[in-house]
Amino acid sequence: VTVATTSRLEAVQAAAGQEGFDALVLVGPPHLAYVAGFHATPHERLIALVVPRHGPLRLVVPSLEEEAARAAAPDAELEVWRDETGPADALANALAGLADGARVGIEKSRLPVATYELAASLAPNASFGDADPLLRRLRIVKDEAELELFRRAGAAIDRAIEALAPGLRAGRTEAEVSAEAGRLAAEAGSEKIAFGPAVLTGPRSALPHAAAGAAVLQDGDLVIVDFGAVVGGYSSDITRTFVVGGQPDARQQELFDVVRAAQRAALDAVRPGVPCAEIDRTARAVIRDAGLGEYFVHRTGHGLGLEIHEPPYLDGGNEEPLGAGMVITVEPGVYVPGYGGVRIEDDAVVTADGVELLTRAPVSLAAAS
Ligand code: ZN
Ligand code: ZN
Repeated sequence: VTVATTSRLEAVQAAAGQEGFDALVLVGPPHLAYVAGFHATPHERLIALVVPRHGPLRLVVPSLEEEAARAAAPDAELEVWRDETGPADALANALAGLADGARVGIEKSRLPVATYELAASLAPNASFGDADPLLRRLRIVKDEAELELFRRAGAAIDRAIEALAPGLRAGRTEAEVSAEAGRLAAEAGSEKIAFGPAVLTGPRSALPHAAAGAAVLQDGDLVIVDFGAVVGGYSSDITRTFVVGGQPDARQQELFDVVRAAQRAALDAVRPGVPCAEIDRTARAVIRDAGLGEYFVHRTGHGLGLEIHEPPYLDGGNEEPLGAGMVITVEPGVYVPGYGGVRIEDDAVVTADGVELLTRAPVSLAAAS
């Protein structure tokens, strides 16, 4: 599945022109996918997309990526390089024609210094500026074709977590459950592992960013499962918290009810024009009022797209307003050190007057039994 890229390229070129750039030189795989429809995995080899102010894209690729690049971006001019010669000549060809004193937009957040120095040596009279804000602004609002991919990614992860929950039994390790989560996501239509899957049980469920390991699920323990599906390059991201054996005690239920109420309040607050920080404050107020404020140690959510974490970030310092077409997660949590944690995460599109939920799997501590 690909998203139509012709009008998108025109939009990128127009925006680059407005920012005073004569060309963009992009290396980030999400930007290559967004601008050229080319889903690349560069590893250590240089893949670069040169976006001139006018005219066709120029794509610098190692020879082993030539066929994939041609198929994905048939209108792009390819500059192919081989391992034994290196990428300098290909990049020089792609940069040829830049006027003396050209202003070139780069991704300051992800362009390797070595690549920057190579580009600067090949275009010695160019000046370089940060194109990240421009790309962030374009990518933050999703079009209908992208939203359709999000809907499919959300439906896939819903099916996967519903299939996974009954198998959260005592005696299995986090790593086993994580592998099964990945397999179920693939069977539900995910084209690759989005991240993790994170599976954290017992006291380890209080570690918001740990990875699944050798810990064994035990009856009565909390277990957090956080994973995603990828469709057409676009990710879903869901978290559910369960009690192994399906019988929560009063403390577990209390933590869960508070987090669920915080998530509902935050989702209810989402609409265009509301600052991202306000969504965070809304969730945080519910948790703080329940006396659990010190245990909510991360932001309330993040944007989703070609990356699993991208703007807009729903944190207390981000007063940027939400806008229709943005796709966000809402994922409050509480993490009691040495005891355990609860997080509930769903994905949503900001609509004209609220949200459209992209993930709808049941939310219940008892779903695993
Ligand atoms: Zn997540
Ligand atoms: Zn998330």
